Amino acid sequence: MLHDTQLLPRSHRREHMRAWKPGVLAPLLEPSIGDFIYRTPGAIVDLVRRHGSPLHLIRPDILQRNVHAMRAVLQRHIQHHEIFYGAKVNKSPALVRAAIDAGAGIDVSSPYELKDALRAGGDPRRMCASGPAKTPAFHADLVRHGVIVSLDSPQELSALESQMDAGPSVRRARVLLRYQPTLARNSRFGMPAQDVRDCLRRLARRPDQVDFLGFHFHLSGYACQDRVTALFELADVIGEARRLSLVPKIVNIGGGLPVRYVGADAYEAFLRQQGPDHYRNRKVPASFYPYGNRTDACAWLERFLTASGTDGQRVSTFLARQDLTLALEPGRSLADQAAFSVFAITRVKPLADRRCVIFIEGSSFSACETWFASEFLVDPILISSATATPADGVFPAYIAGHSCLDEDVLTNRLIEFPTVPQPGDLLVYANTGGYQMDLLENEFHRHPMPRRLVLDAGGGTTRAIPDTLDGDLR
Ligand SMILES: *Cc1c(COP(=O)(O)O)cnc(C)c1O
Repeated sequence: MLHDTQLLPRSHRREHMRAWKPGVLAPLLEPSIGDFIYRTPGAIVDLVRRHGSPLHLIRPDILQRNVHAMRAVLQRHIQHHEIFYGAKVNKSPALVRAAIDAGAGIDVSSPYELKDALRAGGDPRRMCASGPAKTPAFHADLVRHGVIVSLDSPQELSALESQMDAGPSVRRARVLLRYQPTLARNSRFGMPAQDVRDCLRRLARRPDQVDFLGFHFHLSGYACQDRVTALFELADVIGEARRLSLVPKIVNIGGGLPVRYVGADAYEAFLRQQGPDHYRNRKVPASFYPYGNRTDACAWLERFLTASGTDGQRVSTFLARQDLTLALEPGRSLADQAAFSVFAITRVKPLADRRCVIFIEGSSFSACETWFASEFLVDPILISSATATPADGVFPAYIAGHSCLDEDVLTNRLIEFPTVPQPGDLLVYANTGGYQMDLLENEFHRHPMPRRLVLDAGGGTTRAIPDTLDGDLR
């Protein structure tokens, strides 16, 4: 089991702990999470003592608040809208349930995400499935439940058609066609306009089997203007669909709404002055996730809805005139602040050049952005004894996991700690809910999967309960 009372020294009693404010790239914290970390660091020590390290702490109420905030922006500008929570962003069932309770639909892109969303009480007609390589079994599930299927290619349409031909279905397949915007020509997702037109002609011949609902795209990157451009590119195929007597009802613009992790000024100042000496491997990473965004998801959405196309028409006006529902599939931005992760320090080891490495119990799989080609550029918050002496000058250290591979590093950047960290101290990585905490998690070295607990802050005290739909500990 993870349970390891040896890890945290007895001197680490809850009333003796202190969370130290980090320096250069301090995380932006939702106020109640900031209070929890800074006012009751001892409570976090107790949780790690009981549940082990790493420990992921989940706040479903914050995801709900994010849904409501985004919806409020949509309501100010357009009549018809739908938010699908991009469930792949985090494995927490409590977050899926929170999205459903807040009235969001769910983007389920595997049979397992579909199963979880159904178990959490989601309405399948308010779910949407993307992904380029759905299996026949997954298609069958989607059609049976009435989930919206985003068709990625003419080949996927053929597969779905043969499936519908093979066995009588009580339901029609509900489909969107995934368009490949011009600025994503080299992507493997979606189809160029010509293929979309071919699919439309094929769909027009099968109204009894397939219910065409509209169009979809999803772009990598976070640029608002790219989505505006892509949306107006759809005007042609929307017209084509109408000429074929199909009725487009939905345009789904995918996800990619930004998240702010650190203050924009601090971030820009850091980017200006960083150099090879700031990194353990003396390499400045080639690119970063834009951690110091100036816009949050709601401001981004506002900007999107009020942006104009080349003909001067606003996005909101275009949607109203075309009688279209705007659908979004935010993942990372709905999980913003809805989780954070805690790691216990096992060893602090001096290296050459007066640097140190801090080893944590856990691995970089529980806090990383590898698939986003980015270092997770936020300072961890140190929780240590309140009587620790402040560091004498600077104490630069990088943070490594417990595995035997050189690349198992949570933070390559040398962090300057306010006091010298000790074994048994904790590091809190803020805002890890958006892919960082569990996208790559596995049982490497046969270590068990880290635990997730839901924090319930009702009634003045914070309770921690297991993050499963049936309340069992894994
Ligand atoms: C991953 C994904 C999303 C979510 O993207 P975020 O950047 O997390 O908002 C939405 N739609 C599709 C099709 C995706 O693949």
